Amino acid sequence: MNTIDYVYRFDPKNPSVKAPPPDAEAARRTLEDGNRMFSRWMESCRTGSFSSGEPRYVVQCNGLEVGMIRTHGQMPKQAPFAVVVGCSDARVPTEMLFGQGFNDLFVIRVAGNVMGDVCLGSIDFALNALSESVKVVVMLGHGGCGAVTGAVDSYLMPLKFWSKTTSPMLRTIQERIFVAVREAANGIDEVWGPNARDMPNYRAALIETAVSVNAAQNAFDLRSEVERAAKWEIEVLYGVFNLHNHQVSMPSNPNAAATDDNVHLAYAPTNPREFRALSLKMADILKPPSEPAAPVPAPAVDQ
Ligand SMILES: [Zn+2]
Repeated sequence: MNTIDYVYRFDPKNPSVKAPPPDAEAARRTLEDGNRMFSRWMESCRTGSFSSGEPRYVVQCNGLEVGMIRTHGQMPKQAPFAVVVGCSDARVPTEMLFGQGFNDLFVIRVAGNVMGDVCLGSIDFALNALSESVKVVVMLGHGGCGAVTGAVDSYLMPLKFWSKTTSPMLRTIQERIFVAVREAANGIDEVWGPNARDMPNYRAALIETAVSVNAAQNAFDLRSEVERAAKWEIEVLYGVFNLHNHQVSMPSNPNAAATDDNVHLAYAPTNPREFRALSLKMADILKPPSEPAAPVPAPAVDQ
């Protein structure tokens, strides 16, 4: 069986093949195109095939970036085109899933992609020190997130939250996710009806909806941070990485097939009202199919 390669390529004869995106829209397309390539590669690995004429999936690396063309002793200048805030989950390798390489992304990873003080400090550093190159800031959640799952379980079973086995620092992460869980629960209650909590897959739907709302809320906060820094030309985007189809999308349907059209990074909400709309949308996507109605007995006919 053939191997299916995902290659980081440097061409000495053409050392600067990869031009940095000139603006935010081009940066968004670069990330989406990179994710399409990555998801195709993952699909090829899964099915053991690749489309004809595409024997490898190639991430181009510029010579300067890999440090091969520079004056002796000079360090390459840091010049990422995107700041990405994502989860620490090992199944969500940021550069790889966006088809990017050395010096392309400034990455902050923390469980649950929550934004504490230190995380915000890193973002502020990037916005100020790297504003020449940065075009977009991306908030990236992912399906099946362990931190969001922990917050959902604590929301459903509060005694678990106060267990001595839950460390205070872990509680801090969960506390930052609770508001999204509550918003998600409200959306599911509204769409699924009063018996939502007794319906099959309620917990799984609550986790997936909270993942999306958590990403949206953090993207909203990121937008405030970017505006506070007066970086008007930098756009804030958000999406959720699906562990099944390996695509980043928003809204995120966990059961969607991998298609080029499914890859989508959304612009950050501008108003908190959008969180409710998103939770309703997710609740609708995840609503269990209704049971077929029981046959109505034929009315008795008087003889
Ligand atoms: Zn996670």
